[in-house]
Amino acid sequence: MKNKGLLIVYTGASGVGKGTVMKKLLASEPNFRLSVSATTRAPREGEADGREYYFVTRERFDEMIAEDGFLEHAEYVGNKYGTPKAPVFKMLDEGLDVFLEIEVKGFLQIKKAYPECVSIFIIPPSFEELRLRLEGRGTESPEVIEERLRTAESEIGYKEMFDYIVVNDDADRAAREVMSIIADIKKDKE
Ligand code: 5GP
Repeated sequence: MKNKGLLIVYTGASGVGKGTVMKKLLASEPNFRLSVSATTRAPREGEADGREYYFVTRERFDEMIAEDGFLEHAEYVGNKYGTPKAPVFKMLDEGLDVFLEIEVKGFLQIKKAYPECVSIFIIPPSFEELRLRLEGRGTESPEVIEERLRTAESEIGYKEMFDYIVVNDDADRAAREVMSIIADIKKDKE
């Protein structure tokens, strides 16, 4: 049988810097791909449709649910997010390793449906650091920042359910750790 790629759930609190680590992973490893999710959230400055997300209306999102177009989907701080199914299966079939950058409720759905997935939880060195990063980023209102921090606190309660926990104290170091985790898994599969 053709050796399929790995399905990797990559979860971390808002502001933990997982996007920066992800960019380093994609730049360093040609076999890595990041699934592009659909969301009802408004684009942030600099985000492009089809690159960071597919930005869709609530109506379109609900249609995609009805069409069974999502691998998983969840609501997060007032917006819906979902992983389009077809592109992920296509990439896995091509032997590519596909990262799903999703929150905890989505992870639980994936873990149930695809127990063979690899799950990585990115955590901040401290909550104070997370607050500083979210405030420094300046992309969310103070109310949304508070809600994202509360969500992060509740998400951390799920950390034992992940296969690996990586502390993002430094983006280069964290990226190296993720790469070595994946390399070890692939070596074991050979
Ligand atoms: P943000 O609005 O900061 O881009 O994302 C908010 C949260 O939604 C993050 O934790 C992000 O990982 C998560 N997220 C992004 N796409 C998806 C998705 O397709 N499914 C789920 N369940 N969560 C997602």
